[in-house]
Amino acid sequence: MMKLGIFGGTFNPVHYGHLTAAVEVREKLGLNKIIFVPSGNPPLKDTELADAKHRYKMVKLAVSKNRFFAVSDIEYKKKDKSYSVDTIEKLRCIYPGARLYFIAGIDAFIDIPNWWQPERLVSLADFIIVSRPAFKFAGLASSPYLKINKSILKKLDSAKLGQYKTKLKSGREVIMMRITPIEVSATGIRKMVKRGKSIKNLLPEEVESYIITHKIYKVKS
Ligand code: ATP
Repeated sequence: MMKLGIFGGTFNPVHYGHLTAAVEVREKLGLNKIIFVPSGNPPLKDTELADAKHRYKMVKLAVSKNRFFAVSDIEYKKKDKSYSVDTIEKLRCIYPGARLYFIAGIDAFIDIPNWWQPERLVSLADFIIVSRPAFKFAGLASSPYLKINKSILKKLDSAKLGQYKTKLKSGREVIMMRITPIEVSATGIRKMVKRGKSIKNLLPEEVESYIITHKIYKVKS
């Protein structure tokens, strides 16, 4: 059966934190493909958020060399607000019969109660929760969608356990996985661009050039 990873985010911009997570998840779990889904433009303009077209193009540049990676325009092309539940259903139509895994960093999974139709979301796909610097698996203890022993979460945090598979309350599978910590954040990158600092080594060269050429994240003067 084809196994697909769905990796949603603002990708503002995409960086080596995202890319390392995708590479390691795919290799460790033997997924056939990872589909990056950059979000569209929000109804209310957010000055920090680059235009959806730019964010989509940057992801495209970042993944073009990896034959196991793809980018979806589902969310970016949509005029109105996109929700993860709709994205998953659309991908299910495009890939009938595939097993869909929604990939989320610890922080993103903790935030799910604030998303659109969260209960439905956690019953629509299986989940992969990846580690991220500054966030602890122990923080998942209060998730309403997960019933898990805190000692297991602590073992993941202390690296006594590299991976743990269990069921969400919805009955869907969830895999928690430690990945190589990459101390890069999109917020940090945007700040560095604003201050005129180099962002080399934080993201692929093609993405860096794109940011420079299109003057993204620069304060407009
Ligand atoms: P920002 O700094 O703008 O908040 P972000 O990287 O947190 O950016 P997204 O682009 O929406 O925001 O993140 C997409 C997904 O990638 C989320 O699930 C997030 O948890 C995960 N992620 C982001 N950075 C890392 C990282 N360094 N390591 C692991 N996962 C990450």
